[in-house]
Amino acid sequence: MSHAAYPLPATAAPAEGPAGGRSAAAAVGLSKVYGQGETRVTALDGVSVEFGRGEFTAIMGPSGSGKSTLMHCMAGLDSISSGSARIGGTDLSGLADAALTKIRREKLGFIFQAFNLLPTLTALENILLPLQLAGRTPDQEWLDAVVASVGLADRLGHRPSQLSGGQQQRVACARALASRPEIIFADEPTGNLDSRSSGEVLSFLAASVRELGQTVVMVTHDPVAASYAGRVVFLADGRIVDELQRPTADSVLARMKRFGADQAV
Ligand code: ADP
Repeated sequence: MSHAAYPLPATAAPAEGPAGGRSAAAAVGLSKVYGQGETRVTALDGVSVEFGRGEFTAIMGPSGSGKSTLMHCMAGLDSISSGSARIGGTDLSGLADAALTKIRREKLGFIFQAFNLLPTLTALENILLPLQLAGRTPDQEWLDAVVASVGLADRLGHRPSQLSGGQQQRVACARALASRPEIIFADEPTGNLDSRSSGEVLSFLAASVRELGQTVVMVTHDPVAASYAGRVVFLADGRIVDELQRPTADSVLARMKRFGADQAV
């Protein structure tokens, strides 16, 4: 399946260009155990995975397979039991909370299923908030390009309640991109959207990778959403069990069936 192009302004291209070959993030032997004794759960069991710079990777797997835990550990939102997680050149294991917060603010962008916009702020204020929290001055040219690309130029003064779900998620995409993060983590970004809005958001994410050299890692249970990625990594029982390059919705569905499609949501 091919998807409509979602053109981004050429002026927005980063100086270093896309797909520099370096890895943006990696896990090595990453394990995560919750609880103790009878309530002990091994959510991740020795996961090793690399997310290349300028690549769009989808993480799929049945419910409870460890997708969210992997994303949270890699984004410094949850502690690691053993092994390591790295963002760029920085190993997250052993970093104190303040250092993790700094890395999240300076190097990461987040997109959530529930949009997570602040209701009292306008779209533009929401987009700028992470930069302000990090004490950074926006790069106006980049910001203009991101806002134009995501089709929000005439909605910047609106509050989230005045925007559709698709528009709110596009604000969240612009917010994640505003700081030109090392990597964007998207957790079921289309879970609350209709298929048309989903297509717009996914096309935008794919274009940000293809044309701006961004790195995106997206958890999804939707084979159509995964088909926008360049690569799909499959998790089951806390382990990586398979991977697919240049996925189509059909090829993803076929793999999921092999692991039990009925559990895949
Ligand atoms: P997925 O995102 O694939 O649905 P999760 O990463 O949420 O899977 O969960 C993986 C496993 O870890 C599940 O068995 C889940 O119940 C368990 N788990 C996740 N978070 C916690 C937690 N905070 N406390 C205890 N167990 C958890």
